[in-house]
Amino acid sequence: MDLVFLIGVVWTLSRSVRSLLGRSKPGFRGARSSNSRRKADPAKGRTARDPVCGMFVSTEVSHQLVRGNETLHFCSQACLEQYEKKTAKA
Ligand SMILES: [Zn+2]
Repeated sequence: MDLVFLIGVVWTLSRSVRSLLGRSKPGFRGARSSNSRRKADPAKGRTARDPVCGMFVSTEVSHQLVRGNETLHFCSQACLEQYEKKTAKA
């Protein structure tokens, strides 16, 4: 039971750190827009939101689940399985 609590604490901390890092990105992007336009590659660096834990993951390295005509992206296999379980129940 102590291990479960510890995982919860680490999880919460890593999420808050990631959200802080994510917020600093848009400002930087806007400042250097003229330079990044030269090598525009829309496929690279695209991110999607993990519907289970809420973090943003690169679609290049994400664990993907195709559902109907949409593709969902997860940060890990664990999140993907959690989502499948959740939607199977509903
Ligand atoms: Zn996740």
